[in-house]
Amino acid sequence: MPADSFIDDDPHADIRDAVRALCAQYPAEYWRDLDRASAYPEAFVRELTESGFLSVLIPEEYGGAGLGVAAATAILEEIQKSGGNSSACHAQMYIMGSLLRHGSEAQKQAYLPRIASGELRLQAFGVTEPTSGTDTTRIRTQAVRDGDAYVVNGQKVWTSRAEHSDLMLLLARTTPRDKVEKRHQGLSVFLVDMRQALGNGLTIRPIEAMINHATTEVFFDDLRIPADSLIGEEGKGFRYILDGMNAERILIASECIGDARWFIKKATDYANERQVFGRPIGQNQGIQFPIAKAYAATEAADLMVRQAAALFDAGRPCGPQANMAKMLASEASWQAADVCLQTHGGFGFATEYDVERKFRETRLYQVAPISTNLILSHIAEHVLGLPRSY
Ligand SMILES: Cc1cc2nc3c(=O)[nH]c(=O)nc-3n(C[C@H](O)[C@H](O)[C@H](O)COP(=O)(O)OP(=O)(O)OC[C@H]3O[C@@H](n4cnc5c(N)ncnc54)[C@H](O)[C@@H]3O)c2cc1C
Repeated sequence: MPADSFIDDDPHADIRDAVRALCAQYPAEYWRDLDRASAYPEAFVRELTESGFLSVLIPEEYGGAGLGVAAATAILEEIQKSGGNSSACHAQMYIMGSLLRHGSEAQKQAYLPRIASGELRLQAFGVTEPTSGTDTTRIRTQAVRDGDAYVVNGQKVWTSRAEHSDLMLLLARTTPRDKVEKRHQGLSVFLVDMRQALGNGLTIRPIEAMINHATTEVFFDDLRIPADSLIGEEGKGFRYILDGMNAERILIASECIGDARWFIKKATDYANERQVFGRPIGQNQGIQFPIAKAYAATEAADLMVRQAAALFDAGRPCGPQANMAKMLASEASWQAADVCLQTHGGFGFATEYDVERKFRETRLYQVAPISTNLILSHIAEHVLGLPRSY
């Protein structure tokens, strides 16, 4: 059965083959054991970095491969399709973009080659806060200029991979919300060197969660960071973060496509093998049709992911397509997950089949990094011209 797309002139076939070969060394038991121990896939992330896959979006002049988002989607899809979980390291691909697009030449020279080589990890992205939720302009973490430093106070939540990253891209308020004309003004982006900050005003506390995601709470208590940690201009950080969101949406969507393909293959294999009432369960249309529907939904979502990536790489506007790709792909992966679990009956609940682990993991994508409702309101307002709802 075609676990892959029907699109057979894939320009990234070589990349896919190479990622598949790498992932074959990290089989289901590897991910299962990590999940049980809530441990970070250190060896996998190191090898992915050393093989150059995590730096495909970094331009060649800074030590990366200088490829486009379409190439990056091929990498992430293959990781998920192999049964792995690239959320341990995917953020480096897209948050690096803020530094690349808005950082000074000195910042780019100082960090990008070392990120590309794996000497430094930029895996942590501190945006979400406990009290503001999706309403990012209401974040309370503030950075106040004091001589040649900024002093940071506040708290982030769900800052994934903070314990496994050297650097964090941090969004903080530099001008209070009631002192700016528009609510998105007065926010700034900083590149925080967490190696220096830890224990000097920065505290990281792991959050126990439904999935093995290395996610944390981060506390800033009079943390002093050098003034040159600021990326771009003070007060324009919200726009810089928004700039990176299309790439983020497209890359996450490709992970969902990879998950969906894993679930569909797993369900199909099991439906062919499992004998009940003296015949394979897959002979029943009640088992076949839901798998076929999930397959069709995945193919349709994949086309949207590919279109969004092509527009992005051509430098054309792609906000609606990136958002729709993320929504449709996360729904397709959840549909495939549910069908796969149902196809497995009771065995779907046994950890050794990996279905329940991937089921938990893929559910995240309808909530983070942006929840489906917010995508729908984006489409309603910006594509259909309906009134703003919030
Ligand atoms: C495992 C995990 C990892 C994460 N990693 C990171 C990370 O690395 N960095 C980071 O900054 N954040 C991270 N997040 C946070 C994630 O981006 C947020 O959880 C997500 O954006 C939703 O925000 P919230 O949880 O505050 O939900 P809320 O904003 O409180 O929303 C709750 C619910 O209400 C709905 N809702 C809210 N407002 C509206 C509205 N106007 N109309 C309709 N519905 C609405 C939402 O869609 C959602 O379903 C992570 C979260 C998780 C669970």
